[in-house]
Amino acid sequence: MSTIRSSSLFALALLPFAAASLLRAQGIDYAKIEILTEKIGPNLYILSGSAGSDPGHEDAAGGRIGVLAGPDGIFMVDSQYAQLTDKVVAAIRKISPEPIRFLVNTHVHPDHTAGNANFVKMGALLFAREELREELSRPGRGAAANSADPARLPVVTYGMGDPVKLRLNGEVVDLIPVRAAHTGGDTMIRFENADVIMIGDFYRNYGYPFIDTNNGGTLKGALEALDETMKIAGPNTKLVPGHGTIINRKDIAPYRDMMLDIQTKVKTMIGEGKSEQEVLAAKLTAPYDAKVPGGLLPAGAGTSADRFVSMVYSQLKAAK
Ligand SMILES: [Zn+2]
Repeated sequence: MSTIRSSSLFALALLPFAAASLLRAQGIDYAKIEILTEKIGPNLYILSGSAGSDPGHEDAAGGRIGVLAGPDGIFMVDSQYAQLTDKVVAAIRKISPEPIRFLVNTHVHPDHTAGNANFVKMGALLFAREELREELSRPGRGAAANSADPARLPVVTYGMGDPVKLRLNGEVVDLIPVRAAHTGGDTMIRFENADVIMIGDFYRNYGYPFIDTNNGGTLKGALEALDETMKIAGPNTKLVPGHGTIINRKDIAPYRDMMLDIQTKVKTMIGEGKSEQEVLAAKLTAPYDAKVPGGLLPAGAGTSADRFVSMVYSQLKAAK
């Protein structure tokens, strides 16, 4: 009897370790992640995950959240991993006691949408592109793999065209649709008075550009989105990507030029009849590698540089 009891106690004692190793097997150590808050406008805050617990985003776990706070209630950009909702809510409560009324998704990936259903159940009205809703509805694709809860899906959707405008807390918020760039349903969120634009993931300065062609992203659209950002941003506008450091307009041109340079080189090699393997072997990003933190870290089948060059290759091949 006592043997059974002690062995079942032993099994119970092991449970937390089993759960922890399961989490590690999935790669993300949610328990270790902290939510860090940064104030970037009079009533605008950026919430980021801490470093070192998310192998896909070593510099800061998950995707960045924006929080516009005030007496009209909270407007939120993106919803992070669902496993972090409690920590995100705790961070929001340190900013404001007001209800979370509105949520918008910059794009479909789980690090930006997996918490959707949790916030919708707290009363948030979810906005996103119609294309994002379609991507999120498709079984087994994008963030849909995370949950089948209908509450994850946007309630208010919009297509390309004039920005959707929300006026609250003394701010004018523009939901600016972006033609197929990082995904097929990207939105930039501009806070006119704070002079901040949350630009999502078509720009990144940790690792090479990631264009998710399986979810409708295109190289051409990403280049257009960068041009559009340079047009609508002022010289002092804070541009907040989903990952990496906050930038200004002047940081966009060298990034776009790097993409154009790689595009030209890949195009030349395709013209010479080179295969994807030969193009990858040429290490076309070498002149930039020292300036791109995380560029040579694993991403997908190879490094983020390989993933980027493969994407350029397949996009140019498809365009032929
Ligand atoms: Zn992301």
